[in-house]
Amino acid sequence: MNLVEESFKRLYPEKEFNYEAQIKYSGKFQPFNANVRFSSNKITLNLSKHWKTIDREIKIGLIQEMLIKLFKSKKHTKNMDMYNTFIKKLHRFVPKTDSNPILEASFNRVNNKYFSNLIEQPNLKFGKETFTKLGSYSYASDLITISSALKHDYELIDYIMYHELLHKKHQFKSKNGRNYHHTSIFRKKEKEYENSELMEKRLERLKRKNSSIFKLF
Ligand SMILES: [Zn+2]
Repeated sequence: MNLVEESFKRLYPEKEFNYEAQIKYSGKFQPFNANVRFSSNKITLNLSKHWKTIDREIKIGLIQEMLIKLFKSKKHTKNMDMYNTFIKKLHRFVPKTDSNPILEASFNRVNNKYFSNLIEQPNLKFGKETFTKLGSYSYASDLITISSALKHDYELIDYIMYHELLHKKHQFKSKNGRNYHHTSIFRKKEKEYENSELMEKRLERLKRKNSSIFKLF
């Protein structure tokens, strides 16, 4: 039985596995990222090559997480717990290869002011120039990505940096296969940022301004 089928069987013991399934390892991903493709009964799991040597039971947890997203079901397994615990610890071990002087300066300011310098520097990079997703944090690759649209606004970069570092610090809660990132504790912490209301207003204005430009053309 291949790993996908085994993961499926443990997740849905009452169901038949009628799929063609394969796992592909790729060097193109950020460390420990993965995605799933599904078409005409064929499940293809693309995993970053870093997964190759990871414990089988943890890998089953990863595959189950992807399967429940694919089949939009609510389930919770021991393997998924193992996988989530693994992901939460990963940031200590993934290689730190990406940085950028603007983002590093922002990280240092925010870490110093709000986290007593206790947060270890994650990978940092500027992403696409977009106003819809201004920042993100990937647990698996310990990577904060900030939209290039903010490149010249250090105040907003700091505010987004703070949000993403809160993710790194507080991580997420898992329930029934769903992960909750913006919990009430998270939102409370977010408001502790100096002038957070003003910052939120500035973000709103920026998004509004740029969505109208988008619509005009
Ligand atoms: Zn967030």
